[in-house]
Amino acid sequence: MATSAQQFGSDNYAGICPEALAAMTRANDGSCVSYGDDEWTALAADAFRTLFESDCEVFFVFNGTAANSLALAALCQSFHSVICASAAHVETDECGAPEFFSNGSKLLVAPPGSSKLTPDMIRTLATGRADIHFPKPRVVTITQPTETGQVYSLDEIEAIAAVCRELGLKLHMDGARFAHACATLGCSPAEMTWKAGVDVLCFGGTKNGMAVGEAVIFFDRALAADFDYRCKQAGQLASKMRFLSAPWIGLLESGAWLSNARHGNACATRLAGAIAGISGVELLFPVQANAVFIHAPEPLLDDLRRRGWRFYTFIGGGARFMFAWDADPERVEELAADIADAARLMSTAAA
Ligand SMILES: *Cc1c(COP(=O)(O)O)cnc(C)c1O
Repeated sequence: MATSAQQFGSDNYAGICPEALAAMTRANDGSCVSYGDDEWTALAADAFRTLFESDCEVFFVFNGTAANSLALAALCQSFHSVICASAAHVETDECGAPEFFSNGSKLLVAPPGSSKLTPDMIRTLATGRADIHFPKPRVVTITQPTETGQVYSLDEIEAIAAVCRELGLKLHMDGARFAHACATLGCSPAEMTWKAGVDVLCFGGTKNGMAVGEAVIFFDRALAADFDYRCKQAGQLASKMRFLSAPWIGLLESGAWLSNARHGNACATRLAGAIAGISGVELLFPVQANAVFIHAPEPLLDDLRRRGWRFYTFIGGGARFMFAWDADPERVEELAADIADAARLMSTAAA
């Protein structure tokens, strides 16, 4: 089948990066113990412990919805609640899975308008009601980077963690693009998580160059009690676990987890730079990771679609372009040139 020109509609359009694929191929040598009792899975978990400078508990699941939902369910009783931003993936894009897997824990959603949670929003949501009739706040979840590509600074995470500690809340991080945030901040994974007060992290492998898979990382091992049963019950215990775990060894030991993310971020910055100043085209959000959200008149977006570009407009209220590990800088330039040309034609038509 002929491959068509690269698109930036989603970072899930990308294939498997060479480092992850090579590790899968290495793990494909002969037979091996199943359900995670294999050497690849042990090595992958150790690679995370090295990366995070922590004796953390690590679990491998198939996707981010499962990682988030099961992690939150592990932190909550059914009568608890989870504080999140209005744009949080757990609220808008997981089909109620966090509520389902927690047997009813309610999401307490911050008012719309800001993609990041702040300590004030958390305090307001967590202390608004303290009576028996309201689900008891138990967890705060933040997305790093956010669904619209903003990165919480270490200071912001620490301030959120301080409020969590004060109010007796656990702090969960949806890190579907965790590597991209590390690349932006230039800090260590440890600094962005347990050193800043994060209790549980969902580290995305899929958007980082794997075929499939996310890691759920508990920095407080006590919180991981019976999490293996939770995964199994949810249909998230891979029988041939080595193929879910081994790619992580390839990503983490080669440093590809970080270079892949740096590349995606750099392509987003490149597009943002190339379209800056084009009249009628505006960035909806600061570009801090691998996403560019563009606000432009509908006819201009239609023109881009006619030119063959694919993008989604149901997130963030604009045209979203995402850049993965394999983004081709020449295609990024082509996109920028088409945006510029479409804007020029529109302004000529209007004149
Ligand atoms: C992609 C993504 C996920 C995971 O989505 P799945 O399709 O379930 O793998 C989780 N959180 C955020 C912010 C994401 O962008």
